[in-house]
Amino acid sequence: MYEGLKEQLVANLEEIRGAGLYKYEREIDSAQQSHIESNNRELLNFCANNYLGLANDPRVIAAAKAELDERGFGVASVRFICGTQDIHKELELEVSRFLETDDTILFSSCFDANGGVFEALFNEQDAIISDELNHASIIDGIRLSKAVRFRYKNRDMLDLERCLQEAQSSRNRIIVTDGIFSMDGYLAPLVEICELAQKYNAIVMVDDSHAVGLLGVGGKGTPELAGVGHLVDIYTGTFGKALGGAAGGYVSGRKEIIEFLRQKARPYLFSNSLAPAIVAGSLAAIKIAADPVEGVRLREKLHANASYFRTKMTEAGFDLLEGQHPIIPVMFGDAQVAGRIASNMFENGVYVTAFSFPVVPKDKARIRVQLSASHSFEDIDACVGAFVDARSKASL
Ligand SMILES: *Cc1c(COP(=O)(O)O)cnc(C)c1O
Repeated sequence: MYEGLKEQLVANLEEIRGAGLYKYEREIDSAQQSHIESNNRELLNFCANNYLGLANDPRVIAAAKAELDERGFGVASVRFICGTQDIHKELELEVSRFLETDDTILFSSCFDANGGVFEALFNEQDAIISDELNHASIIDGIRLSKAVRFRYKNRDMLDLERCLQEAQSSRNRIIVTDGIFSMDGYLAPLVEICELAQKYNAIVMVDDSHAVGLLGVGGKGTPELAGVGHLVDIYTGTFGKALGGAAGGYVSGRKEIIEFLRQKARPYLFSNSLAPAIVAGSLAAIKIAADPVEGVRLREKLHANASYFRTKMTEAGFDLLEGQHPIIPVMFGDAQVAGRIASNMFENGVYVTAFSFPVVPKDKARIRVQLSASHSFEDIDACVGAFVDARSKASL
């Protein structure tokens, strides 16, 4: 009975390969850090979301190991049956304290957090207004809700205002944006978004997955950086990037919203609780990020690394997108060239990833470099050297 579907899939896979869009997975046989191993070869890693270098931090590992002994491997339940341990509440409290919000609810991932939030809170009487470049999980989450949908051009405030005007007859309006757009490293214009939200009586939701822990003096993310933390009603984010890099996500914000989500958010109600070791490791990671000495030290190192890379690459004549985020796109335009350069760098022991259409616009192919606090200036010099070397070979 499978024959029909099989034939179709084989043909579709062939199409994907033919279009050069097939995603291959490289196997890494070491822990996630700036120096990794793949096929017994050492590589410098410049494409992880391990912004603070906490994915393999001894303090995080020790906390996770201790909880593995104390609270076991798994909880074998959802939160509202018998899957809530003291440490789940402790992590929720720590996120709320860190973001200065009323309350927080954990999910298995930020994908699930975004998948649960819209369907639970909004119906056909409401309007959801979303940036066109928002993360896939936001797009999917919005699809699950019956609300009226509006989409505005990336960071275009005139277009957002048009949507707000068109949505005036709805019961509630929510503006939702990524804090950081991950292909460019661009910041959402949160000051302007919050002003428009005030003017048109809308609530604001920010998915700060690429910024929580690393942007803002206190590491609270893009709302802190923009000075609008108190105007954001709903925060979502992940523990899978700067905050330890393991797994888990959250929705944080207004008291009643979180209370309602505990009653109604389907990925919360019908999916297993986060495992104790992951909760404890994430808790250790967020405490490090929140620490006025250690958090600040890691962020200073991360941003010093990012600006060192920017300076060296600009001196070497590369075209970078401007910005203040450790996502730094090196622009090549041509997809073939970007791909060749990334492969050549890999041969030379530097792991970076090329992105081209349809992930980014046609003729905007790039290599997206991501800095970490765990990189040294020597690592960055080696990366820049590999770019220069690969460029000279790619133009031959
Ligand atoms: C990475 C990311 C997610 C997904 O987070 P997970 O916890 O890995 O599911 C969601 N939203 C944004 C903006 C992200 O960058």
